[in-house]
Formats: sequence, C-alpha cells, structure tokens
Amino acid sequence: MTDPACPDNERVDAAARLADVRAQIARAAADARRHADDVTLIAVSKTHGADAIVPLIAAGQRVFGENRVQEAEAKWPELRAAYPDIRLHMVGQLQSNKADEAVRLFDCIHSLDRPSLVAALARAMDRAGRRPDCFLQVNLEGASGKGGCSPAALHALLGDARAADIPVIGLMTVPPLDREPAPWFALLAKLADDHGLTGLSMGMSGDYPTAVRLGATHIRVGTALFGSRG
Ligand SMILES: *Cc1c(COP(=O)(O)O)cnc(C)c1O
Repeated sequence: MTDPACPDNERVDAAARLADVRAQIARAAADARRHADDVTLIAVSKTHGADAIVPLIAAGQRVFGENRVQEAEAKWPELRAAYPDIRLHMVGQLQSNKADEAVRLFDCIHSLDRPSLVAALARAMDRAGRRPDCFLQVNLEGASGKGGCSPAALHALLGDARAADIPVIGLMTVPPLDREPAPWFALLAKLADDHGLTGLSMGMSGDYPTAVRLGATHIRVGTALFGSRG
C-alpha cells in the first residue's frame, strides 16, 4: 500500500501522532465509562497543505476540519475526489455570504451562532438540496463578537434553526483562553442536555482528554496531529 504522494517518513510521523491521540481518547473515554467509538476525532488541517494531510489519510484518518471556506475550497475538492469517504467539517466562523459554498463543501458546520446565519444557511440548503448537520456555537462567557451566541440567546436560536429545517445535532464551544477548561465543558454539556441535544463539539489539542471525560462527541484537534502551524 505505498502511496507515491506520501513519503515513508511522513507517513510514520502522522501514524504515530494519530495513534497517540487515539490512545489518549481511549484512556479518557475509559475513565468516563464511555466508548471511544462515540467520539469523532476531527483533524483540523487549517493552514496545512495536501503534503501534510495525505500522510494522515494514509494513516486512516477520514474526518477533517477547516476554519475558512476559501482555504477549504482550494484544498479539498481534489483530495475528496481521491478519497471519497472523507468527511469535512467547518469549525471556524462563517460569513453569511459564504453560506452557499459552505453547504456545498462541508458535511457538518460547527459555527451556527446567529439568526442571520440561520436564514442564510436555510436558503443555501434549499438551493443545494443538501442539509449538512449543524452545531450551534455558544460563547459561554456571554461576550459577543468572538463567535458564538450567548447562553441566553441559545433557546431562540435553536427554535429558529428548527423552524428553518436545519438539522441541529448539538452545541459547540471554544472555552476562554488560559482558563481551566473543565467547568466550561461541563456547562456546555448541561446546556445541551437542557435543550435535548446530544452532540457536544468541544476539546482541542490542549484539552481534548478533559473534553472526552466530560462528554465530548466531537473533538477538534489540529496541532497534536499536524504539529504547530508556524
Ligand atoms: C484551529 C482550531 C482548532 C484546533 O486547534 P488546535 O489547538 O491546533 O488543536 C479547534 N477548533 C477551532 C474552532 C479552531 O479554529
């Protein structure tokens, strides 16, 4: 199974990093009496090119994340044609004027956070005849402008999304930098439970084992899989 696009040393590095992350997921899941299979590992490949992505695909990873529509449009169509079972997640803030491209390109959108984006995505989904799963992004500090709705706005936003026939599968958050993440993860889990949602997109390279212990169903891991973004 040699892949000419993927030299052996890069394949070994990627496989080792992936194995390490998977082992940490398994350990954290076991701690919490959860099944590791219930945690989707999203390899966040933003800023990295096909040369870094292909070794991870060769190592077996199939779910990837990007944070910018334009970058994803440039990188992924060719890779998806070569590996049709890849699933692509949008994890970054989404502008309403990129909704059509996002709906065409992504299988899941993690950053639905405002009524205007609900409206834009609903129109885009109708036009495309395709309805990617969505997470509502919550800013648990309640601050606006950084991406994420406030906890107080969540109920109405969920109602809007459901009325627009957008498949909302859970909540997503990025906890405040330089703070202990566990309380924020626990709070997101409680908010999701209060709203009858089972998906929890939380945990990045620095804190994904904690997120898995607290119920994450989707973790978004970049640096631990690809190395630093320079
Ligand atoms: C970049 C990014 C990640 C991955 O971050 P790492 O610390 O490199 O694992 C996760 N979520 C979002 C929303 C991101 O933008």
